[in-house]
Amino acid sequence: MAGMSSSNTSYVARDLAHVWHPCTQMKDHEQQLPMIPIRRGEGVWLEDFEGVRYLDAVSSWWVNLFGHANPRINAAVREQLDRLEQVILAGFTHEPVIRLSESLTAIAPQGLTRCFYADNGSSAVEVAVKMSFHYWRNVGRGAKTRFIALSNSYHGETLGALAVGNVELYKAIYKPLLMDVITVPSPDCFEREPGESWAEHSRRKFTHMEAALQKHAHETAAVILEPLVQCAGSMRMYDPVYLELLREACDRHEVHLIADEVAVGFGRTGTLFACEQAGIRPDFMCLSKGLTSGYLPLSAVLTTEPVYAAFYDEYVKLNAFLHSHSFTGNPLACAAALASLDIFRTDNVLERNRALSAHLGLRARELESHPHVAEVRQRGMIVAVELVREKATRQPYPWQERRGLRIYRHALSRGVLLRPIGNVVYFMPPYVITPEQIDLVVEVAREGIELATCD
Ligand code: PMP
Repeated sequence: MAGMSSSNTSYVARDLAHVWHPCTQMKDHEQQLPMIPIRRGEGVWLEDFEGVRYLDAVSSWWVNLFGHANPRINAAVREQLDRLEQVILAGFTHEPVIRLSESLTAIAPQGLTRCFYADNGSSAVEVAVKMSFHYWRNVGRGAKTRFIALSNSYHGETLGALAVGNVELYKAIYKPLLMDVITVPSPDCFEREPGESWAEHSRRKFTHMEAALQKHAHETAAVILEPLVQCAGSMRMYDPVYLELLREACDRHEVHLIADEVAVGFGRTGTLFACEQAGIRPDFMCLSKGLTSGYLPLSAVLTTEPVYAAFYDEYVKLNAFLHSHSFTGNPLACAAALASLDIFRTDNVLERNRALSAHLGLRARELESHPHVAEVRQRGMIVAVELVREKATRQPYPWQERRGLRIYRHALSRGVLLRPIGNVVYFMPPYVITPEQIDLVVEVAREGIELATCD
């Protein structure tokens, strides 16, 4: 395959001797999966040790916004590196974390005035879950200990985040270790009836949430969900009306709303935050991935004054939120985040993305006529193509056939990194992609789909 020549080979051998890779059956590297050692990145491109380039159409697990080795972010991190690389954030502070907190609270939905930091998306979810639970205890409502989550949701891999998620592949084996959550059917619009609009379907599905809230509000701390797109859940999407209804119902039932914008935040859905499309303000908003433009591990949980106030007390009352991570609010990561927000401000990014997403959608929808494509769906800069064995009945391909893997391999041979989730091919490119590069990515996906569905 392209790029797998001698100088890559030695890195591959050394890697496979010691590195245990994430989300991987390592035996696949014997035959199914090539291992690609990357020497450098530039813009949308990743380059291996033989100079073969791969267009990063999945933003390296949805983190990268403005390209690899972005000169402006590089400069900001370099400058910070000479000043302060890391300092304990308990009792001490630093300029990047102060400025970042000022910036985030200024651009987030109004009323999210407090920032708590961690260093990855799962940890942000843990923080939000613990904070919500702890809030209710602090205000004398200790019976509110449970969480409501959606089917097909994903919130990360640590035990609390895994518990509130619902992708069986990642969760099933660990069930004995996980807290019991209340799971409500997702408003996923792939399941809408023929002729039903996204809004109608999402509204109809909300009846399950309303029923769960009616039954469980007295024992429920929060509802957690991914606004608009269930990314790891095969990029299934729903209408903003669901979030509007949920905000109103959470207020009425006195239950918190946790918006996990780890994947959809920072422009992926077309607006800076997905919640904006419903005009709502969650009680907790989890951010990571694009927060640093995919440069360094950092996450933030934004919350409100009333939540903050419930923890603000005399030390001896032991009401404080005693949660910490060593690298909380790391200055280098904050500097990358500030540089990324600066690019949003100066480069009219959301406006530019509107043209890019229109082009991406237009080209991707050409795949809709394919006999094994059931749907092409889009929300902003996220586009997904759902493959099925039989179009009329929407019968899926059995997962054991690993059709997506064939597309992955084909795309690599054409210099594109696509990473289908099961039977769903998706595009979530860095915002520095050009229309011509979008054409290439979609063409390669089309070829891959042909290959993967020809038998
Ligand atoms: N929440 C969502 C919605 C995610 O998509 C992810 C990661 N894919 C996470 C949480 C977990 O983030 P991390 O991998 O940084 O722990």
